[in-house]
Amino acid sequence: MTLIDGKETARLVRSELAPRAAAFEQKTGRKIGLAVVLVGSDPASEVYVRNKQKACAETGIASYLCALPETVEEDELEARVKEISSREEVDGVLVQLPLPAHLDAQAVLRCIPACKDVDGFSAENFGKLARGEGGLAPCTPLGVMELLRRYRVEIEGKRAAVLGRSNIVGRPMALMLLNANATVTVCHSKTRELPAVLSKADLLVAAVGKPKFVTAEMVKEGAVVIDVGVNRAEGKLCGDVDFDAVSKKASLITPVPGGVGPMTVAMLLKNTVAAAESRA
Ligand code: NAP
Repeated sequence: MTLIDGKETARLVRSELAPRAAAFEQKTGRKIGLAVVLVGSDPASEVYVRNKQKACAETGIASYLCALPETVEEDELEARVKEISSREEVDGVLVQLPLPAHLDAQAVLRCIPACKDVDGFSAENFGKLARGEGGLAPCTPLGVMELLRRYRVEIEGKRAAVLGRSNIVGRPMALMLLNANATVTVCHSKTRELPAVLSKADLLVAAVGKPKFVTAEMVKEGAVVIDVGVNRAEGKLCGDVDFDAVSKKASLITPVPGGVGPMTVAMLLKNTVAAAESRA
C-alpha cells in the first residue's frame, strides 16, 4: 500500500507556482493578488483564511482581506464584493463560506466575475467543467486530480465511484473524473446497495462528511481510495474512510489529515496564478 502524501505534494505545487508568480511580477510590475472576503468571526473560517493568506505570502502572491461584521446587510456585502472584484490588482476573489444565515451565498457569489472566481463556484465555471471546456474549477476536487496525476494513477477506462454529490466536492469531482475518461458512478443518500456499488470501483473518492463511513467491505482489493472527509470523532480529526481497515485493502490511499486537505489551498493558489496569467 502506498500512502499519498498531500502535504508534500502541496509543497511541491507551491514551489512550482512561486517562479510563475515572480515572473508575473517582473512582467507586469505588480504581484498577483487574491482578495478574501470574510464575514463574521467564526473561528474555523478565521483559521482557513489565515492559512490561505500564509500560503499566498509563501508563494509571492499578495492577499487582501476584506473583513466584515456578522451583521452586514446583503446589499452592503454584494457592493463590497463587486468593488473588490473590479480592482485591477485583484486577480482572484473568494468569499469564505459558510456565510451567516441571513445572507444569500449564491447571490453573493454571483457578484464575482467568472474570470476571477478562483473557488470555481460560479454557474459559468461549473457549466464549463460540465461541458469539459476548462475554466476555473473547484479547488478540492482539483486537488484530488492533482494527487492522482502526480502519483501516476491511471484514470482512463477505470471504474470510479464518488460518494457524495455536493456542489463543492462530489459533483465537480465526478465531472473531472468523467472528463478524464473514467466510468463514473455517483453515490448519495438515496443510493441503494451502497457497499455493492462502491466495492466495484477501481477508484473511490469519499466525500460524505461522516467519520469512518467507508468500511473495508465497501472497498475492492487493490482500489485507489481518496478520502476528502474532515470530521471530528472522539476529539480527533478523521476522514470519511475507516483508514486502519481500508488501508489493508487499498493499493494507494490518502490519510486524514495530510491528504486532500493541504491540496485544496495549493489549488486555490494555482487557480489564482492561472487567473492572473490569463487576464494579463
Ligand atoms: P455535504 O454537502 O454534506 O454532502 C455530503 C454528501 O454525502 C451528500 O451528497 C449526501 O447525499 C451524501 N450522503 C450523506 N449521507 C449519506 C449516506 N448515508 N449514504 C450515502 N451518501 C450520503 O458535504 P461536502 O461539503 O461535500 O463535504 C464532504 C466532506 O468533505 C466533509 O467531511 C467536509 O468537511 C469535507 N471537505 C473537505 C475539504 C478539504 O479541503 N479537504 C473541502 C470540502 C469539504 P445527498 O445529496 O443525497 O444528501
